[in-house]
Amino acid sequence: MQVLIEKIASYDYDKIRRFLESVASQTALWQRLEGKKRILLKPNMLGAYEPERAVTTHPVVLEVLIDMLREKDKEVIVGDSPGGTTSVEQVYQKTGLKELTERKQVQLVNFSEYGVVNKQTQHHNFGISKYIFEVDAVINVAKYKTHSLMYYTGAVKNIYGTIPGLKKSDYHKQNPELEKFSTLITELYLAVKPQIALNIVDGIIGMEGEGPSAGEVRRFKVMFASLSAGALDTVAAQMMGFKKEQLKYIEKVLQAEGISEEEIQLEKRWRSFQFKKVKIKRVSIFIKILAYSPPVLKNIFRKLYNYYPAFNDNCRLCKVCVESCPVQAITIKEGASKPEIDYEKCIKCMCCHELCPYQVVYIKKSWLAKFLIH
Ligand code: SF4
Ligand code: SF4
Repeated sequence: MQVLIEKIASYDYDKIRRFLESVASQTALWQRLEGKKRILLKPNMLGAYEPERAVTTHPVVLEVLIDMLREKDKEVIVGDSPGGTTSVEQVYQKTGLKELTERKQVQLVNFSEYGVVNKQTQHHNFGISKYIFEVDAVINVAKYKTHSLMYYTGAVKNIYGTIPGLKKSDYHKQNPELEKFSTLITELYLAVKPQIALNIVDGIIGMEGEGPSAGEVRRFKVMFASLSAGALDTVAAQMMGFKKEQLKYIEKVLQAEGISEEEIQLEKRWRSFQFKKVKIKRVSIFIKILAYSPPVLKNIFRKLYNYYPAFNDNCRLCKVCVESCPVQAITIKEGASKPEIDYEKCIKCMCCHELCPYQVVYIKKSWLAKFLIH
């Protein structure tokens, strides 16, 4: 299974187009799309962030794909379901999607406004956006980032957006442990996979540290593409410095796709390439404590070594966090200037951290956490 990678320093239309044309030819994209008319581009539209924040797929990448597909006489649709209760209009504005789709006269679809199709998998009965199955094919156009719960987010995790609206928070509530959430993501990806014609990850600018939304922008200057999301993410995550055993859900996807790591083909120059000093340590330690310690030790260690969401003083009382919290752990008392969290209820799903449009929610660290990490 081929993973195609190209070094691209900035959002230069021509350079991105050259890469994606080469991807289309090397993966026989046009042959596979023959007879298929309606093609959905599924970007990462996590929330209302400007493209420079590196949270969402950059509009220039989508613009290139729109042009390429139109030239092949395809009808292009761009769609996603932004997380939580952030105003979708605000998401479209800030991410540049509104300007792009208006200028190109492309339909922009919010999955939450359409019904769902129920897909029964081994452990889950998913309500997946109907729209995914009503188009003829989907091109998955993800973003290259760290993730505070899953370590890494790229092509596979981008498929989580096919679950409309707040249902995403419910799944976090039902599957708080990394292992369980990995099974969920794997089964969801496999349910959607037959519709996916190509996976692309935009890492020209990506995110390190406290991803997927509150981390730091990192100029990775790279783009990835593959027919297999599992193969793409295996390569891309290891290039960030994550170890194979940290990437359970990607390993599961790869196995389910029937691909062994040895079968992943890369251009020679990328074979043992790793980005220098990507900030993943914080993410890794946090997850390890939650997932792998024995229960007694875990409780003691948790008290001394703790990470939890907290609020800075820039809250605008928009209530996005209150409405997004899957266990109703967040409240805003009358007259208060910011919310409060009931930490007994909090399951650390980090939805509030992910979804606050003003980066008010940060991850607070106990003294031991600070000592061990910094
Ligand atoms: S922390 Fe404040 S600004 Fe952020 S989502 Fe919650 S209410 Fe809105
Ligand atoms: S308070 Fe934040 S981290 Fe805790 S359960 Fe609610 S949304 Fe998740």
